[in-house]
Amino acid sequence: MIAALLVLLAVFDFQKSPAIDLFFTARARAAAPGYIPSGPKLQKAVDEVRRCEVELGGSAEWGILEGALAGCEKAADIKRSFGFFPEEYPFGARTIKLRAATVKLATALEGAEKEFLTDVWPKHQETLTAKEASITKSLGSGEKIWLGHLVTYLDLELPTKPSLVYLVAEAPEPWGFTRIDRGGQPVIFLGVDAAGGSTLAELAVHELIHALDARQGANRGTLRALRIQLNEAGIATGTAESNRIVHALMYIASGEVVKRIVYGRHHHFGETYGTYARMPDVAPLLLDWWRRYLDGAIDRDEMLASFVREYTAAKR
Ligand SMILES: [Zn+2]
Repeated sequence: MIAALLVLLAVFDFQKSPAIDLFFTARARAAAPGYIPSGPKLQKAVDEVRRCEVELGGSAEWGILEGALAGCEKAADIKRSFGFFPEEYPFGARTIKLRAATVKLATALEGAEKEFLTDVWPKHQETLTAKEASITKSLGSGEKIWLGHLVTYLDLELPTKPSLVYLVAEAPEPWGFTRIDRGGQPVIFLGVDAAGGSTLAELAVHELIHALDARQGANRGTLRALRIQLNEAGIATGTAESNRIVHALMYIASGEVVKRIVYGRHHHFGETYGTYARMPDVAPLLLDWWRRYLDGAIDRDEMLASFVREYTAAKR
């Protein structure tokens, strides 16, 4: 068991930071107003998240802020880190006052920190410890097998160092976020409030796929091959449609590896949380072809070509 845990630690580097937990708590509560009542200072930070989101023009730019969170332990660290943002940042047709908006948010977090550390963090810490143990229990004993399966079928490079994962007690949907830090490395933020058991384990695997895909070498990978096949079929790489399909494969691959290797009675996150139902043109078809590929009935290129052919034919 100890050996297994050591190997899992080589896959995930789980971290907990009170400041990052505070940031995501404010984000989660801003997205779900009234869900959990906050003290007055935390509420101010929640209000500031909403103002900041308006300034950012929706949720698309949170990734920039979150990539800058890696390594932050205190709200003052976040404020310092956001202080390095450019004053102005082009976004679509307009220019965002990025530094002013984000430093203002960090200042509100700083104002809420003491209250958060007293009222919220002790309970959150307990939750994070329990959920980390749950993920380790699910993925720890068979990690060589599930990781081997994942890198084989997705044709990913076996990671040479652990993926940094900040566990946070509250997060907005979709609860998992893989961002790029200032050093160009992927950093994962995983909200543990959404799920437990094998579903939470699947979310961790899903974000790991994002992280491995982000640092994948240029010339290989099933996800890359899918992007190319779609591109050749007229669905250009980087468009919302291409991204949506590639993301569906990430859900399917993570759900299926957990079901086949980790826990036989597992239900895919995509099934339980309605993700597949929201993409009826993609998910059932891709899942069907993916399962045939895993069963050894067809090879990878055949699987991708068949899916793309049927998907594009159904669109016509
Ligand atoms: Zn994802």
